Amino acid sequence: MTTYDYDLFVIGAGSGGVRAARMAAGLGVRVAIAEDRYFGGTCVNVGCVPKKLYVYASQFSENFVASAGFGWKSGKPQFDWSVLVANKDKEIKRLQDVYDRLLRDSGVMVISGRARLLDPHTVIVGDTQFSAEHIIVATGGWPFVPDVVGKEHIVTSNEIFNLKILPKSIVIVGGGYIAVEFAGILHGLGVKVAIFERGQKVLRGFDEDVRDFLTQEMSNKGIEFHFNTSVDRIEQHDNTFVVHTLDGKTVDTDLVMYATGRMPNTNGIGLQALGVCMDKNGAINVNDDYQTNIPSIYALGDVTNRVNLTPVAIAEGMALVNKLYANKTGRVDYQNIPTAVFSQPNIATVGLNETQARAQYPEDIDIYKSTFKPMKNTLSGINEKTLMKMIVVRSTDKVIGLHMVGSDAGEIIQGMAIAIRAGATKAIFDTTVGIHPTAAEEFVTMRTPVA
Ligand code: FAD
Ligand code: NDP
Repeated sequence: MTTYDYDLFVIGAGSGGVRAARMAAGLGVRVAIAEDRYFGGTCVNVGCVPKKLYVYASQFSENFVASAGFGWKSGKPQFDWSVLVANKDKEIKRLQDVYDRLLRDSGVMVISGRARLLDPHTVIVGDTQFSAEHIIVATGGWPFVPDVVGKEHIVTSNEIFNLKILPKSIVIVGGGYIAVEFAGILHGLGVKVAIFERGQKVLRGFDEDVRDFLTQEMSNKGIEFHFNTSVDRIEQHDNTFVVHTLDGKTVDTDLVMYATGRMPNTNGIGLQALGVCMDKNGAINVNDDYQTNIPSIYALGDVTNRVNLTPVAIAEGMALVNKLYANKTGRVDYQNIPTAVFSQPNIATVGLNETQARAQYPEDIDIYKSTFKPMKNTLSGINEKTLMKMIVVRSTDKVIGLHMVGSDAGEIIQGMAIAIRAGATKAIFDTTVGIHPTAAEEFVTMRTPVA
């Protein structure tokens, strides 16, 4: 029988890799994990965590204004970007150490350095080779920036967290999760923000009402949207930039950020040489059990470019370890994965959007919709509204989609997602007693379909 140095070697200590390694070690498996940049991966270092901290920071500007309507008087608030960055760094360092410690305490061999595959059972880090029965590639993704003249002047989400100086103005190219989240963050911190989106709307794939409502609310706050706008070139003029668009506009700005998607991290790690199948974007192809065409090599998380969210990478890590080492075959259910966009206002959604629902259940869909001013804004002087939308299959009464744009949408939809997964009907929603006064109670009090 072949003996290997490890039963399992994990490449990449991000959301998916760390969970797989820790869980396998907990089952008595001999595990090693290699990480070449930062423990915790994208989410902890340049993703979910610092992003959410910055969202909190940015919300204060509106809250200071709102407080006046509730009787508060205070001096002119001042914001110090360097304090936020330093405090964020401290928290991220704490989390990195937690990840490192959790791995070591669970018995995982932690290796710092860039890993590369040499053969189906061998990985090299620096000059040291390690053999393993199974290898998981969990190397995540990296910002994609299209080729454009002046590309060297731009920043991406990787750099934006640690800018030395907060710009006075920014052009954000792209209209996905990262573009709208950072538009809200930077606007809240006092930056003049313009979004350049090549299509007609932001957030492709989300419900049309949600896309329109968010755009309206963000515009009301003062964020500029330039739709059907593509960048031709970016020029530097002293310390500022001029963005030239393909339709002949020019915009002066202090900074240009590209948020035009992410590409899987699959270059230079030996996958091509081994013949591991990938798609045209470099995402690793896997079967339903995360196995590549090389039976000992598995891949999960963003490197497979399917549903690029932290909880999904974690769920995939657990499913794979369960299958390999606990003889459990439960697979991740990709239906009804809830998601939130931490734009301001927040978006959260679970299930089908209206277009998908009508395509799947022609002539059999009821839509319930409510737009209202949340109670806080009756006195705050802030005009932000909330949208809630429910999609029901008329013949079965099943709720198949819930969408919200408004404060704490993520917190609200997380609970609702359980009801959707459990197959709740509209009648169940209707007979659920609301919690008053909340925005969430609207989901159990919508009685008349609008369409
Ligand atoms: P990653 O977390 O990217 O981890 C991959 C790790 O592999 C990295 O640490 C990398 O350094 C390492 N690595 C790469 N190559 C090698 C190598 N050859 N050798 C050794 N190590 C290597 N998701 C959410 O659910 N909610 C959010 O609010 C959210 N916000 C986000 C905000 C931003 C700005 C970004 C960019 C992403 C956000 N995401 C969010 C997405 C989330 O971060 C990813 O889906 C998640 O991190 C994917 O986990 P992963 O394990 O696949 O990869
Ligand atoms: P997204 O895929 O969400 O959005 C990419 C945007 O860039 C789209 O508007 C797209 O336009 C546009 N785009 C793509 N290529 C080009 C191009 N060549 N020129 C101009 N525009 C282009 O990517 P993000 O970078 O915003 O985020 C990456 C992923 O990270 C997300 O999809 C999500 O999975 C994850 N994430 C999750 C978050 C959360 O859970 N809250 C937060 C942040 C990220 P078009 O629609 O026309 O293709």
